[in-house]
Amino acid sequence: MLTLNKKAREEIIGHCLRSSPNEACGILAGRDSKVEKVYEMANAEASPETFLMDPKEQLKVMKEMRVLGLEMAAIYHSHVASEARPSSRDIELALYPDASYLIVSLKDRKNPSLRSFKIVEGKVKEEEVKIVDSL
Ligand SMILES: [Zn+2]
Repeated sequence: MLTLNKKAREEIIGHCLRSSPNEACGILAGRDSKVEKVYEMANAEASPETFLMDPKEQLKVMKEMRVLGLEMAAIYHSHVASEARPSSRDIELALYPDASYLIVSLKDRKNPSLRSFKIVEGKVKEEEVKIVDSL
């Protein structure tokens, strides 16, 4: 289960909407799968169908998280025109078995949907996304 407060949910969705028509991506930092900080990242591929976090920017964020004592709870990205389900490329590029993969679908822009998955060695398992008022 991935736990987000409403503010983090709004930040993530806002970033995804702003980045559209390209996919947005970012890192959710926290403890015990509870998200405390949203890092909006650049999509190095600037594409409506794929994303790639810039390795240098990712390294910088990872260092900051270490200093703050936070873990990489999740990696999020948007699907601008398709369902919030991992694509075959998403599954192939999911390199962090301990992290959650949160996908925001903007298929219905007025009502974006969020779904979260664990992806371990090519196997995808959906998990609950819990939205709370505050952590
Ligand atoms: Zn995707």
